[in-house]
Amino acid sequence: MSVNSFLKERATLNIIENVASFCSECYSPLTENQIVFYDMKHCCYLCFSCQESVENELKKHSKSLDENNTTYSRLFS
Ligand SMILES: [Zn+2]
Repeated sequence: MSVNSFLKERATLNIIENVASFCSECYSPLTENQIVFYDMKHCCYLCFSCQESVENELKKHSKSLDENNTTYSRLFS
């Protein structure tokens, strides 16, 4: 499956100083203990609201794929 998966975690000082100091979508600075999401597909950190919008986009996308698949199978059944 090629679905994005996000790892929910709390931003530690180690993450902020060594991995990511801001959200890779909206570039808002991450603060210690903030809830962040690690995007395992793109290997970057997203803030809460960006993770939500990315996930909604993915859901929309996979929904339209499902619809296409249904149409496709209907044509050939
Ligand atoms: Zn963000």
